[in-house]
Formats: sequence, structure tokens, C-alpha cells
Amino acid sequence: MSTDTVIYVDNNSTTRVAPEVVEAMLPYLNTWYGNPSSPHAFGEVSRKAVEKARGQVAALLGALPEEIIFTGCGTESDNAAILSALENDVKRRKIVTTAVEHPAILSLCKVLQQRGYHIDYVPVDTKGRLNLEHFRQIVSEETAIVSVMWANNESGNLYPVQEIAEIAHAKGALFHTDAVQAVGKIPVNLKDGRIDFLSMSGHKLHAPKGVGVLYRRKGVKFNQFVIGGHQEHGLRAGTENVPGIVGLGRAAELAEQFLYEEQTKVRALRDHLEARLLALCPDPLVNGDPEHRLPNTANISFKYIEGESILMLINQFGICASSGSACTSGSLEPSHVLRAMSVPQIAIHGSIRFSLCRYNTRQEIDTIIEKLPPVIKRLREISPYGR
Ligand code: PLP
Repeated sequence: MSTDTVIYVDNNSTTRVAPEVVEAMLPYLNTWYGNPSSPHAFGEVSRKAVEKARGQVAALLGALPEEIIFTGCGTESDNAAILSALENDVKRRKIVTTAVEHPAILSLCKVLQQRGYHIDYVPVDTKGRLNLEHFRQIVSEETAIVSVMWANNESGNLYPVQEIAEIAHAKGALFHTDAVQAVGKIPVNLKDGRIDFLSMSGHKLHAPKGVGVLYRRKGVKFNQFVIGGHQEHGLRAGTENVPGIVGLGRAAELAEQFLYEEQTKVRALRDHLEARLLALCPDPLVNGDPEHRLPNTANISFKYIEGESILMLINQFGICASSGSACTSGSLEPSHVLRAMSVPQIAIHGSIRFSLCRYNTRQEIDTIIEKLPPVIKRLREISPYGR
């Protein structure tokens, strides 16, 4: 397979590492391989590079450098925030989250439930929207933490995290947001101090895999999740992934520069793709909230057929998209997000997620518009549902 022929529209799964990011990382692979904890001059070069990256990430988030903890991935950041909150106030045994979180939250909650914690999963409506009233009813003095994603990886839906944070704080609970899909695609500004913990992940914003961030608001108590040495100012043990951190710092800088492009060029390409597919494929269903959605994501169900079959056939044209969540697409179980949205049975198996990025071109999108509708038609002709 050649990357020249690939049309990659699976950016909510992972992204291409930006060439500028590779360039920033290379010296820390080739030359400056010192350990940031080493007291000698060679170590100091790495130490300074990590601190520069901390400042770059903080600038993107509107945070202070000391509020940024580098981690191994978004999943680690999610786990660390929730477990820290539970350890901090052992009398509070409840967690409030949503039915549409990533497995990084939901699988942890399942384990915590087995350990005796009580988890409330706030439901969504058929467009995947949350109702703030549910949070007002459920969050109580027994709630340790409320965790709600900023943007959903499958539908692209955006959630009112600042308002939910206020509801959590009114009951003395902490608030965490999984912003892995939001950072770099929409403005994320933590200056107003309402969010206590935020997770992000390098590989979703054109930095490499294996590096993440946990933002911890200044003053919020944090119990270390990875225990060992005193790296990350004693908050996360383990020798720092210096090239990865440097790459994430540069990616954060680029994300700020390209934010306008995400809102304009990427959004226009997504809207063009969605509008043409809706016009050309009979009886489609858009999964998500068209009014509060990431600019790069379109999730469309093509009724009566299997998303996996669509993916296999468009793969022949080099088109890389996803059916349901990439993290769960190894199994043919319908995605928990679409199930939570009560997507009808005839549509739930036929969903395709297109997630674009700044590297996509109009020509690529037009190729998808040309190649996909005949695939849908062909599959429907042989569908056991007889459409
Ligand atoms: N949270 C969300 C919303 C995600 O989409 C993902 C990855 O797909 C994660 C968390 C996990 O991030 P990572 O792959 O860095 O562990």
C-alpha cells in the first residue's frame, strides 16, 4: 500500500504527525538523548526542552505551565483524574459520567463499580445531546467527581462542560473533562478556572502516539497515579518521553495557528461531503447534533447495510474511514454511543464516521463523493433486507 493513494478521513482515530513536529523531535532522537533528570549539561538540554513544551501546551489551553502534567496517553490522563478524586475524598463514593464516554472512562467505571463505587451514567437523546437537568438531579454531596467529555469521538457532539462543571462544584464535587477530541479542533480555554482536570492526547492533534497531558487546575489536590521516581515535579513517575513531549509542544503551537482553518476550511469540506452524500444516497441518517458538533466529524448511517462492508469496499479506493469507534471496531457489536442514542436497528450497523483534518483536500473529498454512493447502491441490492 502506498500512502500517496490513501484518502485518510479517520483522524478521530489518529492523525498524521505534522512534518514540523517530526522536525522538532528529531534532535531529541538523534543528538540530545539525555535524561531530563540527569544533573549534567546534557540532561539539562532535555529538561529545558520538556519545560518549553509544557509552556507551549499551557498556552494552547490557557493554563499555567505548572498545571500541565505529561502522561503516556489520554487513557492514562482519564484514569489518573478519576482515581485521584476518589482517593482525595474517601467519603464520597459516587461518580457521575455519561453513557457516551470513551472506554478510557467507561471501562474504568466498570472496574470501580465492582470495587463498590456507585456510577451514574447520564443518558443522551436521539441526537446524542445531554440534558443539564439530569446532572442537577443526580450530582450530590456524595459525588466525588463528574466526568464529561468535551467532544464525542464518534458523533463529534460537543458538550457544555463549563456549565456541568458549575453543577459539580455547587455540590463540592470535582469536574473532569476528556478533551482528547476537542483540543486542536475547537478553542479550549481554561482561564476561567471552572474545570479541575482535563485530558488530552498527542496523537489526535498531529503529535506522535504515546504522549498525553493531564491538566490539573492549580490548587486541586492530586494523588499520583504512576508511582516511582520524582519526574514531572513529583506528579507522574517514569522517565519522560522527551521526543514525544517536544513533538506535542510543537503540535500545540501549530494547533493554535491552524484553529481558524479547522473552523473554516475543514468545516467547509466536512459540510460539502455530508451534504453531497445525503443528496446522493437515499434514506441516510446523520448521527449527532448538527448544531453543536466538531467541525471535522460527520457520522452517517446508511440503512439496511453493514458499515464493515462499506469500509471494505471503499478501502479498494484507498479511502480510510471508520465504522463506529475505531477503538471498538474490532468487534461487530454496534457502538455503545449509537446504542445510547437509540439509533434504529436498520441504521445502527450501517454507520460510517468521516473525520477530517487540515491535510484533506477538496479533491479527496470529491473522490469520496464519487466512489461511495455506487458502493451503497451495490450493497443495498444484495442486502438481505431487500433494499
Ligand atoms: N478519549 C477519547 C474521547 C478518545 O477518542 C480517545 C482515543 O480514541 C481516548 C480518550 C484515548 O486516548 P489515547 O489513545 O491517547 O489513550
